[in-house]
Amino acid sequence: MSTLSSENSPAPLLSNSDNNKNYNIKAISNRNIKYLKDKLNNTPIEFNNDAEFWYYVYRINMAELLELKHPKSFRCLFHDDNKPSASVYQNEDGVWLYKCHSKCKMPNGNPLTLNNKQLIEKLGNFKSEYKAIKFIKDIYNLSIKETEWSIEQKANLDSIIYKLDMNIFSELCPQTNKNIRYVKELFSVMVHIAKDNVYGENYTNSDGDIVFFVSLTDLAKQMNVSLNHINRISQRLSVLIYHDLVRKLDDEKIPEMMLKKAQAISIDKKYPKRVNFYAIPSWILEHLSNVEIQGVKWKNNGYTVKGASYEMYYRGEGLEVAQNIYPQHKKVKEKEIDFETGEISEVIKDRTTSKISNERVDNIVKSIDIIINRKGYTTEKEIMIYLSREYMWEITEIQLRKMRGQLEKLGYKRIRANKEIKDKYNIDSLGYPSIIVNIDKLMN
Ligand SMILES: [Zn+2]
Repeated sequence: MSTLSSENSPAPLLSNSDNNKNYNIKAISNRNIKYLKDKLNNTPIEFNNDAEFWYYVYRINMAELLELKHPKSFRCLFHDDNKPSASVYQNEDGVWLYKCHSKCKMPNGNPLTLNNKQLIEKLGNFKSEYKAIKFIKDIYNLSIKETEWSIEQKANLDSIIYKLDMNIFSELCPQTNKNIRYVKELFSVMVHIAKDNVYGENYTNSDGDIVFFVSLTDLAKQMNVSLNHINRISQRLSVLIYHDLVRKLDDEKIPEMMLKKAQAISIDKKYPKRVNFYAIPSWILEHLSNVEIQGVKWKNNGYTVKGASYEMYYRGEGLEVAQNIYPQHKKVKEKEIDFETGEISEVIKDRTTSKISNERVDNIVKSIDIIINRKGYTTEKEIMIYLSREYMWEITEIQLRKMRGQLEKLGYKRIRANKEIKDKYNIDSLGYPSIIVNIDKLMN
């Protein structure tokens, strides 16, 4: 009797003569663990987490596993191939891939391209992904360390995923749920990355949250955002950090062992910049209350994802809030001139706002005053038109977004017009626009 289960009916094509001596291929398609384990004779490895496990698995030499004499050109294992039309190779990240240049296709219609896991899954004709992964672990002597701690952390993260997907979050934190509607996908990606990076041992920040690291480049890749628009990722991240759904860690809060690991990976992956460290707090009710408090503040400050920046938070809520959201950017180097000696030196200062944006804000405030004096209220659009000879429309628009949180301190308020307000200010436009008015006049 064969060792195959009944589900394993259409076996891969192995009739090609040049593949006949490839015993490993046959053993994989027969799911012969014992043969492969003996043959591969891999030293047992216990990984700290899923991420480390996959990093290893994707880099196992596929040409050796398949015992290919000509890895660049051999007969495809998955279709009746008369002339060699398959190859295996390593991509720029060191990941081994199998490619059929002929008939075999991916679900999206692209040429069939398989990593080690997908290759074994297909070759072994596994109907369950879990069993394919178990098979890989068995034949290569691999395991992932599990502890009480890592189980706890994964359960907390699973609970976040559940509450997000089942609309429990939107019920408990309705305002935050609205604020993050364009950012949810990034949050979900981060929760999954965190889950893959739970260490077997207790590596936490002082609050006991799990700590993980990822580069903006990797996040952009996962989100399908072009590297030219990497700023969009950091903007969306800042929204999550503002709501305390994700915490960005200051260097001194990062366990030393993780810093070292991150450095090693940065060098390995040739990151231009170092990776960032994050933590995701567990969603206990008390925490969700704080999240929603932030959500309401976000709305009251008129914040938007498009305006999100150090400057927006700084103008809205001051230095401490901005520094907390951007711990790695809280200081700037500035050149200072000693007027007596003429010497120029570099000093490190708290990042505030730039001269050029302060100038723009001054001009915006002047135009608000002029227009309000004339007709009692103004709108962001009117200000953009008013300043259009000085600044491009988009520049004024972004500046306005970055200063919405500051308006009240400057003596103005941005309100949504209703019928009563429209009558009061003689607004004849259609609909109910957001208008900017003087706070003092609003009280009367
Ligand atoms: Zn093929």
